[in-house]
Amino acid sequence: MITINEHYLKLQASYLFSDIAKRVAAFQKNNPDKDIIKLGIGDVTRALPPACIEAFHQAVDEMAVETSFHGYGPEQGYAFLREAIAKNDFQARGADISADEIFVSDGAKCDTGNIQEIFATDVKVAIPDPVYPVYLDTNVMAGRTGIFNDGRFQGLCYLDSTRENNFVPDLPTEPVDLIYLCFPNNPTGSSITKEQLKKWVNYAHDNKALILFDAAYEAFIRDESLPKSIFEIDGAKEVAIEFRSFSKNAGFTGTRCAYTVIPKECRAFDATGGKQALHPLWNRRHCTKFNGVSYPIQKAAAAVYSEAGKVQTRELTDYYLTNAALIRKEITALGFDSVGGDNSPYIWIDGRGRDSWEFFDMLLNKAGVVCTPGAGFGKCGQGYIRLSAFNSYQNVEKAMKRIKQALQ
Ligand code: PLP
Repeated sequence: MITINEHYLKLQASYLFSDIAKRVAAFQKNNPDKDIIKLGIGDVTRALPPACIEAFHQAVDEMAVETSFHGYGPEQGYAFLREAIAKNDFQARGADISADEIFVSDGAKCDTGNIQEIFATDVKVAIPDPVYPVYLDTNVMAGRTGIFNDGRFQGLCYLDSTRENNFVPDLPTEPVDLIYLCFPNNPTGSSITKEQLKKWVNYAHDNKALILFDAAYEAFIRDESLPKSIFEIDGAKEVAIEFRSFSKNAGFTGTRCAYTVIPKECRAFDATGGKQALHPLWNRRHCTKFNGVSYPIQKAAAAVYSEAGKVQTRELTDYYLTNAALIRKEITALGFDSVGGDNSPYIWIDGRGRDSWEFFDMLLNKAGVVCTPGAGFGKCGQGYIRLSAFNSYQNVEKAMKRIKQALQ
């Protein structure tokens, strides 16, 4: 008899985006003349930078000629891309990361989801609340949790991100082994300082733990004192893995390219307590289950690091940050507390006692604006909504005017 992985039955159906879609469809049906402005989802809206498009086209042309055709490439990514990443994203910021410590992939979603495979099933996992749901669900699937009860999975250590800690979780009070951190954060938009991150690195050393650091939104950091990479922190190479993506800095959400950094020193332990390097383990996993990102896409990604690419990607993130600043300004003027929007495309807004869905319905029905209810990201998200800056400036301006009218 073929049986299933029972852990999948513990998963909570993700109603968040389908519930949003249902409510939006109902509103549209009852108000066919009203246009709706979507500030809900985390997908980018602007086109790929011209430098990437040009490199993409050239690479496709190379594929059309036998002498420059590329078949299977290295699973870890082409040297031209890994070297550009190491030089520009790390060495230029004083982080000593080399090209062979970088694994190119087709998304930070897959990497943050798959990485847990190389750890034992009985490790204690610490996950922020609210959270990007991939970290949570992949650990449920792997059997690292008990059942879902009262809004939380048993067996996990939840790291509460609240107004009290300025949306940067405190160190756990119980020992944990695997720690997920994401900064700038999705969904809260909060950022972490070097001093705060250093505390986590020290914790990982003291407790023989490992940090999985998701830096998918690092390109939005404008405050130069903030770390873009965990490897800017002394001692992090032994205790951290970092995830990056071309999705949000260069609009690759539909093109797909990302990378994971595992320094050679990065370690975990075997059942006898012996140190084991994680780089060869992930290399083995990656080469067994993944066959590389296509050549034209890696060429397009490498163009992010060309002189033109740097200017164009900066312009792209600046554009969204201008939207974010406008949202933050208007929402503050209306008397709401919020976080994010300065070094992040997300603004996390306290509904002043409103339930997340009540706030959602109010914005939809009175202003025709779609947000994301914070409760969909975890228990600590209740009472909040997330607004995203991924839209045109004109639409953001219009949305904020409508919200102002609706609330006054
Ligand atoms: N990590 C975080 C925190 C995200 O919010 C997202 C996408 O929204 C991803 C990773 C996924 O990135 P990618 O498009 O590279 O899969």
